[in-house]
Amino acid sequence: MNGSKEHDQICDAIVIGAGFAGMYMLHVLREAGLSAIAFETGGDVGGTWYWNRYPGARCDTESLFYSYQFDEALQQDWNWTERYPAQPEILQYAQHVAHRFDLKRNINFNTKVTDALWDENAQLWNVSTNKGAHKRCRFLISAVGCLSAVNVPDIDGLDDFKGEYYQTGLWPREGVNFRDKTVAIIGTGSSAIQSIPVITEQARHVTVFQRTANYVVPAQNRPLDPTEVAKIKSDYPSLRAKAKATYSGNIFPTGGSSALDVSPEERVQEYENRWRAGGLGLMGAFQDLQSNQASNETAADFVRNKIREIVKDPEVARKLTPTNTFGCKRLCVATNYYETYNRGNISLIDLNDTPIQRITSNGVRTTRQDHDVDILILATGFDAMTGALNRINIQGTGGEKLRDTWRDGPVTYLGLGVHGFPNMFTITGPGSPSVLTNMIPTIEQHVNLIGKCLISMSKKNASRIEASASAQDDWVAYNAELANRSLRVTCNSWYLGANVTGKPRVFMPFVGGLPAYIEKCEEIVRDDFKGFLIT
Ligand code: FAD
Ligand code: NAP
Repeated sequence: MNGSKEHDQICDAIVIGAGFAGMYMLHVLREAGLSAIAFETGGDVGGTWYWNRYPGARCDTESLFYSYQFDEALQQDWNWTERYPAQPEILQYAQHVAHRFDLKRNINFNTKVTDALWDENAQLWNVSTNKGAHKRCRFLISAVGCLSAVNVPDIDGLDDFKGEYYQTGLWPREGVNFRDKTVAIIGTGSSAIQSIPVITEQARHVTVFQRTANYVVPAQNRPLDPTEVAKIKSDYPSLRAKAKATYSGNIFPTGGSSALDVSPEERVQEYENRWRAGGLGLMGAFQDLQSNQASNETAADFVRNKIREIVKDPEVARKLTPTNTFGCKRLCVATNYYETYNRGNISLIDLNDTPIQRITSNGVRTTRQDHDVDILILATGFDAMTGALNRINIQGTGGEKLRDTWRDGPVTYLGLGVHGFPNMFTITGPGSPSVLTNMIPTIEQHVNLIGKCLISMSKKNASRIEASASAQDDWVAYNAELANRSLRVTCNSWYLGANVTGKPRVFMPFVGGLPAYIEKCEEIVRDDFKGFLIT
């Protein structure tokens, strides 16, 4: 967008971020007749899919459902090519949406929001950017993403490395040439497990440094069949509604109530069917997999047996075999992950046996040896859910900083608002189901709710909204109580902030499932935004 007078005026809303959340928010605000602009650090729309261009990057939510549903013509017109779309296709989709709804004219690219200060007298937010812009707005809307602040681990000597150095979450647009190169990859989460098979096909040798073995299920990706697509598109509204009624907003079938209610043969058959179907469906095989350790162990054992069947070297299979709770860390979905370890050009280093001492100018030094490489890749994830917001200097009433309010872990009402930060909304903020669900529908649900709230405020001539302290306390306590009953708190996952040194250990997403969350949101809308103080 161009400079000019618009910049000097107070706008109704400033949106931070132009991924799927920021794009749709901008559209809804404009449709409501409100003036809005967005700031985006990246050079284009797409968010996650703009930054994460590593080899093998793709979605593990089915393409026909990892897409917007707010516009019927859009969902009918767009044609996905694969069951699980690759990063370039999702980025193209984001660009298509931006073009179709003429969003870019209100987005400032290559511009990072650095500060947002609430002015109680003027009832306005003062927003500053790294480009020196200062803007004022009535509402500040965060669409900064749950997985957008890259985590650089606390490993000595990272700056000493003299070869090529990349992070999966900040992959160069021009790509990387691995031909005849030796490569070290640190990390074995979702990004690593997608990229390792692809990089190993191209490089001379790949060394993987694993701290925690993960459960990996096959994607069983395939091109989409036009007949299947037509069938889904003709039934989109009812399929979307069905997905919304499941715990994670996905379309795989919900399984029986307990893994222990059926015979061992039936249980294994259920797991086998879901393994063959591919993707995250294994998580939903039985409803008590995240609440009953004995049930969970049956699913864990199923995957452990698969690893032993696939990986030929028993010692490598042993190292790859996870010991923690199945699904406690995000389940990984990949193509040929375990099979790749049967190749001759890959080595697996278990960091529990030989920890990393430091990065040297030539590669990675463990307690056992130096691994000299041409290329070093950090696949070490994100400062999830709070990182992107805490990296902005956000100050609410009385100059209170958001990062201080969240010192002991994030507190929010419904993941949408924070007490002490009036007129600020957080799309898919901590305390909402967000990362435990198919995220585009979840984003739409939040944006629609914020849109309704702003329209209702404008009808009432109201100018200020703030989550009440008691509603926030109740919501935080409720989420903590549910989380503590779940097996999801039994490992060191990024859901708990355990991957970032010094981060408070708090389970950040709402764990009660999408239907319960949506019901609560609908209730508060019916009840005139109960829990928010509107004046
Ligand atoms: P993002 O896409 O993260 O966009 C946020 C944007 O805000 C970024 O572009 C960032 O640059 C910008 N921003 C942040 N801070 C500032 C600032 N201070 N100033 C200006 N701009 C700022 N979800 C699924 O449901 N299914 C999947 O299969 C799936 N796969 C994923 C794969 C990867 C590799 C990753 C990292 C995430 C995946 N996710 C998946 C989660 C994914 O993040 C969401 O699905 C979705 O893309 C989030 O959209 P968003 O707009 O909320 O955030
Ligand atoms: P991640 O899941 O957090 O994985 C990071 C990896 O780096 C882990 O194996 C971690 O080990 C390791 N690590 C971190 N610090 C380390 C250190 N100091 N030394 C050694 N190892 C270290 O990050 P990610 O793979 O980028 O994925 C993040 C999330 O993005 C996923 O969970 C998912 O939600 C989303 N995602 C989805 C897809 C998809 O298929 N759709 C693909 C990529 C990402 P520990 O486990 O021991 O901490």
